[in-house]
Amino acid sequence: MSNYSDPDWAPQTKVDLQAYNTLSLPVQADYFSDLCQLSDLYAAHQFCHDQQLNWLLLGGGSNIVLTDDFNGLVMHMALAGKAWLTPDQLHHRPAQNRDDLVYLCIGAGENWDQLVAWSLAQGAYGLQNLSLIPGLVGAAPIQNIGAYGVELAHILHEVMVFDFVTGEEFCLTAEQCELGYRDSIFKRHPHWIVMSVTLVLSRHPHIHIGYGDIAAYLEQVLDGPATQATPQQVRDAVIHIRSTKLPDPSRIPNVGSFFKNPLVTANKAQQLREKWPDLVAYPQPNKQVKLAAGWLIDQLGWRGYMKAGVGVHGKQALVLVLESTTANKMTGLTLLKLAQEIQADVEQHFAISLAVEPRLFGKVGEIQMEHI
Ligand SMILES: Cc1cc2nc3c(=O)[nH]c(=O)nc-3n(C[C@H](O)[C@H](O)[C@H](O)COP(=O)(O)OP(=O)(O)OC[C@H]3O[C@@H](n4cnc5c(N)ncnc54)[C@H](O)[C@@H]3O)c2cc1C
Repeated sequence: MSNYSDPDWAPQTKVDLQAYNTLSLPVQADYFSDLCQLSDLYAAHQFCHDQQLNWLLLGGGSNIVLTDDFNGLVMHMALAGKAWLTPDQLHHRPAQNRDDLVYLCIGAGENWDQLVAWSLAQGAYGLQNLSLIPGLVGAAPIQNIGAYGVELAHILHEVMVFDFVTGEEFCLTAEQCELGYRDSIFKRHPHWIVMSVTLVLSRHPHIHIGYGDIAAYLEQVLDGPATQATPQQVRDAVIHIRSTKLPDPSRIPNVGSFFKNPLVTANKAQQLREKWPDLVAYPQPNKQVKLAAGWLIDQLGWRGYMKAGVGVHGKQALVLVLESTTANKMTGLTLLKLAQEIQADVEQHFAISLAVEPRLFGKVGEIQMEHI
């Protein structure tokens, strides 16, 4: 439990958050602080408690939409550090010690993609498919980041948490994080702050190339079968493929996929396929079927749409974008209005309701799409 008050700690006031969100939305925070060390976190906690302030934690700002100036303290996660842990240094000891596994504890403020590159250079494998996902390590468990058939759940060991309401610190096992598709226990406990994440990686260079275009790309560039690719070559392939399909937020403001891929029953998928034979659908282990939200949106002609500085990316209908020249005059609400139009269109034509993937924040805290 923290009971800490640092007399030298003071937040900045009236800070523009444009550089802290990948949509480049120019909202202002009443108070702002980088969390560079644990004492900053404890002091910020005390400050919000004493002043009865609203608060909001940002990582890389690549999965949030800000609709208004923030009336409270915005904290930017910057806790750094990487440490190799032996099994007896873990909070939760593994059931069996395996020589091929390595445990890596990483500060929540480390950059995710830099971590992926670093881990491969150290000969610790498992993160290569998650290359080039923007954002910081601390946000990775929040929506169980995933790409190309791998998700954080496959390589997470434990997570160190600070409860911003009680000031308590505790460590969750990967299982206790309740990781699901773009989901975790952290969405149900938004006052839990991730301080560090411990991953379990392998010394064996296993690769997963069965998803998307990875194998086809590797066949092209390698002088041999794709199965012989190294983890670094898989990372290079993922970076190449992502760079050709997804807009770089530093040039085109966006938050990646705006909608989650909907899960429907096998019956529903079959009904849709009768009308739309090219339906993109992935059967799930629980007999549900995951549909490609981007494909649904694409069928309705939204890809490449652009009006008044807000639109849909020309190469990927799942990504909503802002025009870079006008983003600094926009509010997140304009983007959310477009998202609502797309949701209504998909509902009307496919009888499917699309859920929004990024988290939405208004003047005093998180808001829900239904209340916009
Ligand atoms: C071009 C692009 C491509 C993307 N591709 C993918 C992809 O392939 N797969 C994927 O899963 N996602 C993808 N994303 C979404 C995004 O990168 C991830 O969700 C990422 O994990 C967000 O990290 P962040 O640090 O930017 O989080 P932020 O946007 O800063 O925060 C997101 C949410 O997490 C909370 N949060 C942040 N840090 C912490 C912490 N330490 N403790 C508790 N809560 C915290 C915030 O309060 C907020 O609610 C993409 C985004 C973009 C822009």
